[in-house]
Amino acid sequence: MSHNLFETFAERMQSRGDADFITTREGRHYSHADALTESARLAGTLTALGVSPGDRVAVQVDKSPEAILLYLATLRVGGVYLPLNTGYTGDEIRYFLGDAEPALFVCRPAALDEARAIAAETGCPAVETLGSAADGSLMDKAAAATPREDVVAREADDLAAILYTSGTTGRSKGAMLTHRNLGSNAETLAKAWHFSAEDRLIHALPIFHTHGLFVACNVTLMAGSSMLFLPKFDADVIFEEMPRGTVLMGVPTFYTRLVADARLTPEVTANMRLFVSGSAPLTAETHEAFEQKTGHAILERYGMTETNMNLSNPYDGARRAGTVGMPLPGVEIRITDLETGEVVSQGEIGMLQVRGPNVFIGYWRMPEKTREELLEDGFFITGDLAMVDEHGYVQIVGRDKDLVISGGYNVYPKEIEQVIDELDAVQESAVIGLPHPDFGEGVTAVVVCQPGAELEEAQVIDHLQGRLAKYKQPKRVFFVDSLPRNTMGKVQKNELRKRFDGTYR
Ligand code: ATP
Ligand code: MG
Repeated sequence: MSHNLFETFAERMQSRGDADFITTREGRHYSHADALTESARLAGTLTALGVSPGDRVAVQVDKSPEAILLYLATLRVGGVYLPLNTGYTGDEIRYFLGDAEPALFVCRPAALDEARAIAAETGCPAVETLGSAADGSLMDKAAAATPREDVVAREADDLAAILYTSGTTGRSKGAMLTHRNLGSNAETLAKAWHFSAEDRLIHALPIFHTHGLFVACNVTLMAGSSMLFLPKFDADVIFEEMPRGTVLMGVPTFYTRLVADARLTPEVTANMRLFVSGSAPLTAETHEAFEQKTGHAILERYGMTETNMNLSNPYDGARRAGTVGMPLPGVEIRITDLETGEVVSQGEIGMLQVRGPNVFIGYWRMPEKTREELLEDGFFITGDLAMVDEHGYVQIVGRDKDLVISGGYNVYPKEIEQVIDELDAVQESAVIGLPHPDFGEGVTAVVVCQPGAELEEAQVIDHLQGRLAKYKQPKRVFFVDSLPRNTMGKVQKNELRKRFDGTYR
């Protein structure tokens, strides 16, 4: 029996027929039946272009419904979908194509010349274009192609996609994801979050990342729901569309922007049944303000490129601010001591490890890194520090790499950031460790003030007196206009560490 994830999707698409699958504000429209037909056409095109089972199809295109059809077509022919961040430059693309050796590279129409040159250098045999208005050579070829109605048989452990991590802590790594990984997680999430054919997801995320691609699209396909595809987050558009939508999936910055907007009311969100947040920590403050303004408790979940989603606040039951909830069905977790590797007791902080059918099979062409992080018993070392609180909910404390060790003490940046953020004049903050001759690392705060507000270094430090132990208090506080973030809204502490590197030397 074939375990190609597309078979499952195809069954749902068949049964949903003419019901909407993806629509856009410009009036583009694909029903589930259309997605089936168009993916067959694109599958025929991929085969004609020489894509064989197991071949990578690298894609760097602007967001469009057709890009999702291309993803489906790739699955259909047994290929491995490999989406690339639209922000990557030519040099970065050269690295990724060299690393992944795709059989086909689909790029933006305007990037064709450069893409051809890079393809020639890296030995990629075919280049096609796809524009955000369904333009480009790929769709032209598809229009004339002989549709491929079959679905290539795949094993559950065969690759369905390679997704590069966000590169928040270093160079992006290619996570190898199987049909089982994607299928099991989509099924679990659709059930856990009560997705149905009635749902209309407002999709404002990029589609080269696990959140916008797999969480959003695979769950929609699994449940036979529909999506409104927006090119990006735009609060005006979100407010206009909420009365016709049922679910929004967002990164925390979506929610901080919505909360700051006077249009956020119970009335405008009345048709919505679910707001999901993930990819970076949602502050308790935003969670509470959102609930107070709308009556909706944002559902925060935790996942990563390598594992899809692992933990989620409950659909029914308390969604606790500042937590990511409990393991999803089928997912096991353990939290281990950083030094001894022993499982810690409830309430203690340690390394979060996860195991389940959702966990990837390794990093593409990085056997050593794979061995370091994917243990023999199947647990994956997430690199995130976590603890289970007194309600049994998991709190993500921060990344292992961001832990500050000052004078031999572990300092968890999030704890300090939360106290700094209490100051009215503070919009947000990031606490980092910088090389320090006496302490090893010196705790350092980088603060963004509210528009128009001003603060002195001493005021921040005064506020922390009596609230935090001396060793946790920053030795220096710097003020910046904004924190460096990547496309997923993640704060790049690397950049901050580089910028303030010489502070104590
Ligand atoms: P890289 O691995 O390349 O450094 P990255 O870890 O940011 O980049 P992703 O796989 O996109 O790449 O992100 C996963 C990470 O995002 C998690 O390990 C975690 O640190 C963070 N994250 C995701 N959801 C949450 C959440 N709800 N709360 C806190 N952190 C989260
Ligand atoms: Mg990571």
